[in-house]
Amino acid sequence: MTDPMTDTDVAIVGAGAAGLAAAKTLGELGVPFVVLEASHRIGGRAYTEAVGPGQPFDLGCHWMHSASLNPFVAVADAHGFDYDKSGFNRRMRIDGAWAGAAAEAARDAFLKRNFAAIARAAETGPDRATAEVTERENRWTPVFDYFFSVWTSLDVDRVSIVDLETYIDTDENWPVKQGFGTLVARHAAGVPVTLNARVIAIDWSGKALRLTTQKGEHRAKKIIVTVSTDILSGGHIGFDPALPDWKQEAAAALPLGNHNRICLIYDRNVFGDPPPPAATVLDDGAEPMSFSIRPFGYDYVVGMTGGRFADWLERAGIEASVDLAKEMARARRDRSLGRSCQGEPEKGVRRRHRQARGRPQRHRLARRSLGARCLFRRPARPDGPTPALGRAARRASVLRRRGDLARVLLDRPRRPPDRHRDRTAGSAGVGICPKPYLTGAVSPA
Ligand SMILES: Cc1cc2nc3c(=O)[nH]c(=O)nc-3n(C[C@H](O)[C@H](O)[C@H](O)COP(=O)(O)OP(=O)(O)OC[C@H]3O[C@@H](n4cnc5c(N)ncnc54)[C@H](O)[C@@H]3O)c2cc1C
Repeated sequence: MTDPMTDTDVAIVGAGAAGLAAAKTLGELGVPFVVLEASHRIGGRAYTEAVGPGQPFDLGCHWMHSASLNPFVAVADAHGFDYDKSGFNRRMRIDGAWAGAAAEAARDAFLKRNFAAIARAAETGPDRATAEVTERENRWTPVFDYFFSVWTSLDVDRVSIVDLETYIDTDENWPVKQGFGTLVARHAAGVPVTLNARVIAIDWSGKALRLTTQKGEHRAKKIIVTVSTDILSGGHIGFDPALPDWKQEAAAALPLGNHNRICLIYDRNVFGDPPPPAATVLDDGAEPMSFSIRPFGYDYVVGMTGGRFADWLERAGIEASVDLAKEMARARRDRSLGRSCQGEPEKGVRRRHRQARGRPQRHRLARRSLGARCLFRRPARPDGPTPALGRAARRASVLRRRGDLARVLLDRPRRPPDRHRDRTAGSAGVGICPKPYLTGAVSPA
């Protein structure tokens, strides 16, 4: 049975981090609202599942990136959550043995050269795919490409260098022990959400806006839509009148990529204490894979894949994913990781996540993805003006030259002066996780 029509001031579509943040703010301001969520749970891409008693596993976001700028650090502190400030571990196992200092230094020098090349090319333009400005014929190219794919969820030929450079990276990536999804849910505790209420249609032709959901109808003065760009560009919500072309084009120019985590769950501590360090395994021409081994002491191992390889492995099925991760984690010729792993995982969990990143398949499209990020932020009105994509791209280009693009796009403070510092220095290294979904507001306040 459906509910009768309900009236409210603001209807929020989606109870992910963005929708919950909007709801929290409206609640604090005393504005009546409803949150309509398609799924049976809140959190969206921020979700933690217990894979065993006291063993939380993040299916989506896990790291508080650029922690000194990240508002979730204060939220974590307020709720007594723990996090690890040590940064990414960048050890490598190559053909079954730990890489020596010289090999890791060579890799770091290569990564550093590539990041510098990206920054230089993005500053001087034109916008291009990352593959076009990075070294392609180096021993470490597969490692760079692998890191990049799990970091951005897309491959190097699909990511705009300018889009990439709008991300403010302070090299502080802090995973949340109890789970980032748990943190988002805890922060949103008490926010009323209507679950299993997928919004099917939005009629915004009149003064009173109407939403049709699986559960009934709502009338609202304003609507905040927080669904992903793929949901918007995929036409999953019927807008009447249709969203302006510029809005749809902007959403389509920011497609979601693919990042999978393969979780091997053990019934006890089979690695001993302390566990082997997290490592990227490079095995004789095979696709590299990074592993976290017993993170926070939990009895599981997490392998990560991204981009087309994640797509391919996903299509091969869960068993294939688990087998590959097991084989690589066991690292046949491994002399320390292999020997210390005394047991078989009792089950494997493969998780799929998506996030958005500007896609420059061609030069023209690259410029569009840059403008798209600017445009996508603008509120749409049925009778509103049509911002020109070309003009937005040109404006973005001017801002980029002034070094202000990130601030304007993301409403963030000016980039820190050391933004282009050596990203491979210290213990932080390159990311082995995706970067935040920049288009969606992930703000607790
Ligand atoms: C694999 C992965 C790893 C990540 N890792 C990190 C990380 O380590 N650190 C970090 O900061 N960020 C990370 N991110 C990014 C972060 O998870 C996202 O930016 C954030 O969770 C997005 O929140 P959102 O509210 O914008 O969107 P979503 O979480 O997608 O929320 C949208 C909500 O809308 C709902 N919805 C969809 N359609 C409808 C409909 N028709 N009607 C009603 N509801 C609907 C969805 O069910 C969903 O709950 C990661 C993302 C992914 C995908």
